Amino acid sequence: MRKKYSNGILVRTCKKCKKQISDQSIRDYCPECFEKVQAIFDKIDAYLKEYPGATAFEIEQETKIPYHVINNFVREGRLIEIPNEYLNMECKRCGCLLLSAHYEYCPVCREKIKKELEWAKTQLTTHVDAKMHMTQRNKNER
Ligand SMILES: [Zn+2]
Ligand SMILES: [Zn+2]
Repeated sequence: MRKKYSNGILVRTCKKCKKQISDQSIRDYCPECFEKVQAIFDKIDAYLKEYPGATAFEIEQETKIPYHVINNFVREGRLIEIPNEYLNMECKRCGCLLLSAHYEYCPVCREKIKKELEWAKTQLTTHVDAKMHMTQRNKNER
């Protein structure tokens, strides 16, 4: 809780925008900032429900929520850090650090792999579905 004296009166300010908030407020944020913070927290919460035990590094990569924001929730006690055993996990394609047990590849490589698979699929279906026609040349030769 951030407390500051202004003209001898104790005032509380929003942790984010530094706007003055009611001394009775149960939160460290003004209502607007609390809503924003809550929306980010909900995103992390939803991600963790889908991928339990995700590391902050993974959350940052997947949700684009900066690590220091995630860390803030830890400091506020809304998230708990537990030691993880995925420290040596690397992307199987480019070798970058993953720190995640949920993925074999980093987001960049996953995107590339997806595109490659889609491309491979179109290549495959072209061959399988295409109707075969004799070329004019073959008819003439007969
Ligand atoms: Zn605020
Ligand atoms: Zn990669």
